[in-house]
Amino acid sequence: MLLDFLAPRHCAVCGRRLQTAEKTLCVSCLLDLDISEYFNGESGNKLERTLWQRLPIKRAAAFMTYDHTDAQHAIVLNLKYHGQASIGYHIGKLMSHQLAERHFFDGIDMIVPVPIPYAKKLQRGYNQSEQLALGISHATGIPVNTHVIRRKPYGPSQTQLTPAQRQQNVKGSFELNTSLRLPFFKRRDPLALRGKHFLIVDDVITSTATMQECGKTLCQIPNITISVLSMAVSRNLINNIRRANPEE
Ligand SMILES: [Zn+2]
Repeated sequence: MLLDFLAPRHCAVCGRRLQTAEKTLCVSCLLDLDISEYFNGESGNKLERTLWQRLPIKRAAAFMTYDHTDAQHAIVLNLKYHGQASIGYHIGKLMSHQLAERHFFDGIDMIVPVPIPYAKKLQRGYNQSEQLALGISHATGIPVNTHVIRRKPYGPSQTQLTPAQRQQNVKGSFELNTSLRLPFFKRRDPLALRGKHFLIVDDVITSTATMQECGKTLCQIPNITISVLSMAVSRNLINNIRRANPEE
């Protein structure tokens, strides 16, 4: 393809130049991906059970594992910090094709990407979870809803917090969005979405705190169901979940 010649694309893991048919990852890195145990379409997996404790969870899946020392961590970093929004879209599509065969999306009414603060979105140019959601939507035909919840702005002290404190800080950081809807000057009414089945989409799950806060906020809408899909899950969390749910 001429475009590949003029603007060569590179694998998000190894950096090798991509062939025309390759998207985001070269075939070799794609085959080497460490797929998580929460991506087998099995109902009642341990991630699902962990989230059940607090939320009306129907299904939960996470595509790949990562930690700071392995090569596929580059996918997470490139998507989030290096401006490569298209990674989200392509991996969103890739995950969906596999999960759709296992009926993961059956009954889901809309996809809700985990919102990031507005200032962060302006700075980055996109919300990485929204890019994933667009890929999933393209593959499944399920609409994306980016306005039902929103993130409150970070407090001024956020940069001085340790990662653990930031995680704690996620408490109360989402709210249902009842802002004015232009140009009609009518307030949005999230409660009109009662009874719907929402798919919350995030780029990485490092603890379940963000998912729980996001889900808890959505649960202010009566009688809803929640499913969860993430591009990556940290190995640290997988180990914690295994310890909390030993094999029978
Ligand atoms: Zn590669």
